[in-house]
Amino acid sequence: MVKKLLKIIYFFICKIFEILFPLNCIVCGKLQPWNEKCICRQCWESYVNDPEIVNFQKRLSLPVIQKKLRKFPETDFVRVFCLGPYDFPLNDLVKNFKYNGFKNLAEIFAEQLYQLIKNQIPQCKILYVPMIPKQQRDRGYNQTFLIARNLASALSMDLVNRGIKFKYKHKPQVDCSYSQRINQMKNTMALSGDWEQITGKNVLVVDDVFTTGATLSEAYRVVKSGGANQIYAAVVAVTV
Ligand SMILES: [Zn+2]
Repeated sequence: MVKKLLKIIYFFICKIFEILFPLNCIVCGKLQPWNEKCICRQCWESYVNDPEIVNFQKRLSLPVIQKKLRKFPETDFVRVFCLGPYDFPLNDLVKNFKYNGFKNLAEIFAEQLYQLIKNQIPQCKILYVPMIPKQQRDRGYNQTFLIARNLASALSMDLVNRGIKFKYKHKPQVDCSYSQRINQMKNTMALSGDWEQITGKNVLVVDDVFTTGATLSEAYRVVKSGGANQIYAAVVAVTV
């Protein structure tokens, strides 16, 4: 009963918030964006169909990612899929996704990654980059898990829930300089509870933003140590 009442109160508080602080599409400014994604359908579709973006996505080896990965000679992804450069509007969408609770963006990120990845990879186990547990508790969700879950379901592949984890705390990447980012990620991750599911299998690792490549390289090292076969990665954006 109390729970029901609280739900009703919560519903009305949300409605009042919606009236006081209406949601606008971050691109065209139009009110009531599509299903709380902070971008309207038209703007998202014109972004993903922009010839420059289509061309960016289709390039087999994205030069910007290749260049960053040269710093990690042991990292050898078969291919890294990426939706676009970390420029407007993708950068703002990712920030809203991570920090402002726009969890529904996972659906359109995953849908677009699916369009890019389908028929391009063999059967894979889908893994996602973990979060530091405290950070995840504060945020209430792991954004890469949300993308990976939607993507796994679109691709009809298995999501490995606990494939890799952080061994110990480190400073959030956002507070670090470029060289700190590269060095401080080394040996921070380890295999987690369900890791045996990846042994002898192909793996696709999902992350949100490819900045230095340090996080994905560390994930690669751990996944490889778990006996994975071919390893792919999928990210929403890459900083250029
Ligand atoms: Zn719009």
